[in-house]
Amino acid sequence: MQFIDLAEQQRQQLPDGRTIREAVDMRIAAVLNHGRYILGPEVEELETILAAYVGVDHCIAVASGTDALLIALMALGVKAGDEVITTPFSFISTSETIALLGAIPVYVDIDPATYNLDPGKLERAISERTKAIIPVSLYGQPADFPAINAIAERHGLPVIEDGAQSFGSEQHGRRSCGLSTIGTTSFFPSKPFGGYGDGGACFTNDPELADRMRRVSRHGQARRYFHTDIGVNGRIDTLQAAILLGKWPNFAEEVEARGRIGAAYSRKLQAASISSTPQLAAGNTSVYAQYTVQVDQRAEVQAALKERGIPTSVHYPTLLSQQPALSSINNRASQVWHTPLAQAASERVMSLPMHPWLSDDDQDRVVDALANALHSTLISAAA
Ligand SMILES: *Cc1c(COP(=O)(O)O)cnc(C)c1O
Repeated sequence: MQFIDLAEQQRQQLPDGRTIREAVDMRIAAVLNHGRYILGPEVEELETILAAYVGVDHCIAVASGTDALLIALMALGVKAGDEVITTPFSFISTSETIALLGAIPVYVDIDPATYNLDPGKLERAISERTKAIIPVSLYGQPADFPAINAIAERHGLPVIEDGAQSFGSEQHGRRSCGLSTIGTTSFFPSKPFGGYGDGGACFTNDPELADRMRRVSRHGQARRYFHTDIGVNGRIDTLQAAILLGKWPNFAEEVEARGRIGAAYSRKLQAASISSTPQLAAGNTSVYAQYTVQVDQRAEVQAALKERGIPTSVHYPTLLSQQPALSSINNRASQVWHTPLAQAASERVMSLPMHPWLSDDDQDRVVDALANALHSTLISAAA
């Protein structure tokens, strides 16, 4: 069993009868024929489709989800010494990009029900040095944007949604990445809308921010060889945009399948008396980038599942506030981050195999094996 089955993905049939593999091959061939490898027409075609899907005016396709965050922060003018509020329970990019600019990540604990930044603890983290807030829509469902945006607005702060795991999900009928000042996402192969390589995107309704993000992603270039901003080489490859366009017609079905398979997991696990299933906040859907439960004696449970051929993964075992790479910044801020709920989650979370082609049988095998493993670790703990 695969944790995420990207080979099966290529065999999927699109609404027009071709497989994803055939559509992608044709798209790649078209790029090799026209030869515009940098900012070819596929890039704008992709941006137009994705902006319409998310429901915003502007999409800037970039080289990765990490670059999308970096470019968003640079376009907002975040610089050395500024503070950016975020969650400690995320992938490294969220804090890495803040640190790259010399700014200081300030961590707010999570809501243990959703694993996302707790808006109830946000306001007390805001200082005069705060320049932005980055909630992460972890595991596939949006953070609480109505509450976060209301607080941000009172303080005149922009909000960047790190939607690397939530592209395709909705909150009160609006799509992830269109829920705040800027939304960013990733097209890393295992993400809900993954390519076959690196890619990402920034979304916004603000035309000035859109211009700035576009410039920053292209060496700060205002016109050929004239540079008004410090930027990065953050463009998406034409080839990667073409691959994503080839896959796009299947995406709606994948989002539907993800929701259905996630809900079935929860039903089956609860029927097996496993109660730590993901909880959706009111008004949210999830694309289940990860389907994550909590277990005691995690290492033993993972080993027992592995023995039965079932891969698992931990997202994430170490909080960002405790990453060695970020420790000097933490010292500079002379802060001891107290995020006990994120800490507790990091010690117990475990993600199960999850992708749109997970069969009923495989899902039953996972549930069965997990129920068995929990039962036997309970016995060994008691013995
Ligand atoms: C994957 C991920 C990123 C980074 O995306 P890349 O495309 O790999 O650079 C950022 N934030 C979160 C929450 C992610 O899961």
